Amino acid sequence: MTSTAKTALNIAVLYPDLLNLYGDRGNARALEQRCAARGMEATVTGVDIGDDWDTDQADIVLVGGGQDREQRRVQADLQRRGDDLRDYVDDDGVVLAVCGGFQLFGHQYRGWDGEIMEGIGIFDAVAAHPGPKIARCVGNVVALWEGETVVGFENHGGRTYLNDGQEALADVVNGFGNNGGDGLEGAKIRNAYGTYLHGAVLPKNPRLADRLISLALERRYGPEAAELAPLDDSVALKAHAEALHAALSAGESPMGRRFA
Ligand code: GLN
Repeated sequence: MTSTAKTALNIAVLYPDLLNLYGDRGNARALEQRCAARGMEATVTGVDIGDDWDTDQADIVLVGGGQDREQRRVQADLQRRGDDLRDYVDDDGVVLAVCGGFQLFGHQYRGWDGEIMEGIGIFDAVAAHPGPKIARCVGNVVALWEGETVVGFENHGGRTYLNDGQEALADVVNGFGNNGGDGLEGAKIRNAYGTYLHGAVLPKNPRLADRLISLALERRYGPEAAELAPLDDSVALKAHAEALHAALSAGESPMGRRFA
């Protein structure tokens, strides 16, 4: 059985105004459209500081990136939701956390001023900014995820280091990824995905978008609902190809072209 109008998904976007660098909210739009194109309903709800929100209602939780200042503003509110979000992930809830959001979904982020922001420890990872004198990690990224390219744009001062046993999301082909040193991009645990890729990332990477939808459908409606009808992805794949070209023609990668 493929998914039909009987299936509906709730997408929650955490701090949609504060953590929305480079149009990260476009990730919600991409998921919504891909559901609608298959006759499924998707409801997008923004969750702001102080809002009442129950993770039981959510099928997919999105959180975007932001400057250190914005990350600091959401930090206390995110902490108070930490237990619920950890339970949600333990229960196979689907998450996509981008850049500043990815950092706060790890154990901690030491910002550019040296002050620690405590994260919620979903990813077994720590992030630290080496200070304002050290160059940021900026540029187009290509990474290999399950043998396929994922593309996006990164701009972060913080470097993320995964602890032993924490799986990365992808391997860097071009760009910095987590820290510009170990060739790893993002993190994945259960159905929670973390990445440094903005773009927004999902409109340009339809297979990744569909993975999140499929996992969410499986969790709510069972394995038979996880099979997705194919869509005409010509526009998304053109955007993907252009981002790939931009990244690969930009010159030598800081990581070298390890897989290209
Ligand atoms: N403020 C964080 C950093 O500089 C995250 C930036 C971002 O989300 N693009 O590392």
